[in-house]
Amino acid sequence: MAREEKLLQTLQKITNILNQDLPQLASIIGPKSIQLEITNLCNLRCIMCDRWKWDTHLQGDLTKEDLFSLFDELASLNTQHILFSGGEPLLRPDFKELVQYLNQKGIAITLITNGTLLTEDIATLLIKSDATIIFSVDGSNDAIYSQIRGREGLLTKIIENIKNVGKIKKSEKKGFISMHFVIQPFNLEDVFSFFELAKTLSVDAVSYGIIHGPHIPEKGVGFKDEHLPHLKKTISELIKLQKNKNDIQIELRPELYAIAEGQITSDALKSGLLVTELFKKDPVPCLTVIYWALIDAFGDVYPCCYAYFDNLDYESAKNLRNRLCFGNIHQSSFQEIWYGQKFNSFRKMMNPVQIENYPKVCGNCGSYFFFKEKWDRVIHFREKLKYIYENIESNLVSIRNALLNCFASPIDRAPRPYESEMAQVIRKIFDF
Ligand code: SF4
Ligand code: SF4
Repeated sequence: MAREEKLLQTLQKITNILNQDLPQLASIIGPKSIQLEITNLCNLRCIMCDRWKWDTHLQGDLTKEDLFSLFDELASLNTQHILFSGGEPLLRPDFKELVQYLNQKGIAITLITNGTLLTEDIATLLIKSDATIIFSVDGSNDAIYSQIRGREGLLTKIIENIKNVGKIKKSEKKGFISMHFVIQPFNLEDVFSFFELAKTLSVDAVSYGIIHGPHIPEKGVGFKDEHLPHLKKTISELIKLQKNKNDIQIELRPELYAIAEGQITSDALKSGLLVTELFKKDPVPCLTVIYWALIDAFGDVYPCCYAYFDNLDYESAKNLRNRLCFGNIHQSSFQEIWYGQKFNSFRKMMNPVQIENYPKVCGNCGSYFFFKEKWDRVIHFREKLKYIYENIESNLVSIRNALLNCFASPIDRAPRPYESEMAQVIRKIFDF
């Protein structure tokens, strides 16, 4: 293929991508990453979460056969990553089989776990599978841990489990382990001790988020005015610490930077809906909907965990949740749901996010900052593309004029027939 032709084709492809709407992008990119709730059961009693009160497991989680056939379908759709969540995913007796099946399919795995049930053989299998394991811990000592997680005497066991998996990782030279800490009033004093603890456990990273969600004021677990100065100071120090050369990575959710920079107001922090006002002021599209979906333990498909209200009481959040359920994999294939009318109409509503329609969902979404960053770049590239097209246009006009000039008849003689014919042909070709 001639170089010019290749260049034009590339330009056309870039134009297509930058001008796509979200349903079209979702069909180009496909469901690359799926969050899969493999059980509703949980063995902890966290104060910020009603999940453990759900009685819905009596209706049954997806069976192993359901999941295997889902994995077959996802592999055929070129899904590259599955995030196992729950409830507590390790409560599933067939967990190892699920991992082995995904290994056969070549799909990468992330597990979010509270770490209480991680046995050596499961840890070895996960590490040999090069999986990412995220331990949700939230405290470096048993007093704080049990206050938040509602169970006493478990932290020593969890630390032991993390240590063991760290050893396996070292010997296998595979896998990625991180410890997650959700900053909340009860553990605000513990942020840096948690980092010190993580350093002793051969983990790769320690990650920090902040408690949020529409339910936190009502549950009395969110931040109040008296906490805010200390919270902001702690986050600023954490950002400083992150810039140091540390033995392990420190990962911070983008909303933490936004709090430190004052972008998230005190009212937003206290309400748990961190970004409602930002979405109103500076709307951006949701880019999650082009590559991601959540499938719950009943097989229902949602855009993300926020839209699933995963920490809220099952019954009282049912109406909110049902509004954003796009189908069930028992009734349709996942592919039909992914490309279906319900998911696509939602995608259209998400470009940009219509926050008034979904205040409790998207106002809760720290990914706002990722979207904003990416969207600002897309806008920048669109400007560049416009510039390229404007220049193509002016260059084409010069070429057209030069060609017309070639076939113009000299003023001292009558035009030859081919001259006016050619001029007509050129005008037709340059009709843009
Ligand atoms: S936050 Fe996680 S570990 Fe705690 S009760 Fe809810 S699902 Fe269980
Ligand atoms: S909460 Fe809203 S903006 Fe955030 S990922 Fe979900 S659908 Fe997208």
